Amino acid sequence: MSNERIPYSRQSIDDADVAAVIATLRSDYLTQGPAVPTFESAISELHAMAHGVAVANATGALHIACLALGLGAGDVLWTSPNSFVASANCARYCGADVDFVDIDPTSRNMSVAALSAKLEEADRAGRLPKIVVPVDFAGYPCDMPAIRALADRYGFSIIEDASHAVGASLGGQPIGCHADIAVLSFHPVKIVTTGEGGICLTNNPALAAKLRLLRSHGISRDPADLTQPSDGLWYYEQIDLGFNYRMSDIQAALGTSQLNRRLAMQEARESLARIYDARLSGLPLKLPPRSADRVSAHHLYVIEVDSSATAVDRQALFAALAADGISGNVHYIPIHLQPYYRALGFKAGGFPAAENYYRNAITIPLFPAMTDEQQERVIQSLTRALS
Ligand SMILES: *Cc1c(COP(=O)(O)O)cnc(C)c1O
Repeated sequence: MSNERIPYSRQSIDDADVAAVIATLRSDYLTQGPAVPTFESAISELHAMAHGVAVANATGALHIACLALGLGAGDVLWTSPNSFVASANCARYCGADVDFVDIDPTSRNMSVAALSAKLEEADRAGRLPKIVVPVDFAGYPCDMPAIRALADRYGFSIIEDASHAVGASLGGQPIGCHADIAVLSFHPVKIVTTGEGGICLTNNPALAAKLRLLRSHGISRDPADLTQPSDGLWYYEQIDLGFNYRMSDIQAALGTSQLNRRLAMQEARESLARIYDARLSGLPLKLPPRSADRVSAHHLYVIEVDSSATAVDRQALFAALAADGISGNVHYIPIHLQPYYRALGFKAGGFPAAENYYRNAITIPLFPAMTDEQQERVIQSLTRALS
């Protein structure tokens, strides 16, 4: 067997992707051309959403989603502590406060029971969140119908951070429709890539228009938006304070090309996940959730060491994998334990399910081009270390 290092994730780029990028480089537009709307339509169609606004990255998408939903100073946004820091930082960009809702240890997503209890308490205290950001961790959909029911009852908006979940579905319905805005990421480790990139999906045309404005400096040429008579064909107005958060045509062309292979890449992830499920089930590990009503995008395959059944701890298992040339990773260090958030008053013990999960979790390699031989090496290494 080869001893080449196995990464935990890796983008999948083929000749068609390369050709699509080159064709764009030779075209009239490197940015603000036709490739971005084409990509927006393709992603919106995949998720059965009416509008897609492509953005430079998902972090920017979360930022303008918060602004479009009116988040500002004095407001509160709640998210899952088991996520990338961007899920919380978007509130801070808007001058708003952040709080967290602990996870469900099985799904590793925001616990709906904990959310419900926390909302009841916040309602009594008069401090309800303006926005809740559930995160489809590892590509496994959150219980969005239940979160939507709570949103309707308590009057908050939902930004679904579906950065991990391109192509995932719930009850046969692609994810996104229960959120006011759903955000996807196209970073190279994610399901499909544009190098850097993200998108806001929404079924609300007014939100889509607001997102488009915020993505590009708050500038509009739409006659319906103009406050003064046009000076001529060149005329535009800045009607809000926006950003340059645009995606380039080079990136969008790569994304559209990637989508031609999305199903095959998804099937490869599903098949690798099923083999891990079967081969690791006898080891003292907790494996990712499965449910008959959900299709996970299998962005990450996270095992948790069952510390009641083995003396091998997460540290030792991670080191054993590394010694065998296997690069694991850990998703995620609970956001509230980051120094920036500790300085805002969050403490260890605040969200015990997320903290307990973090102590035992390892992300093991899973990516579409992973070979049977590579997967066998990972399984053998785990089996040796845990026997
Ligand atoms: C990757 C990621 C982001 C940020 O995505 P970028 O496109 O890199 O800005 C946000 N949230 C989650 C959960 C992510 O995994």
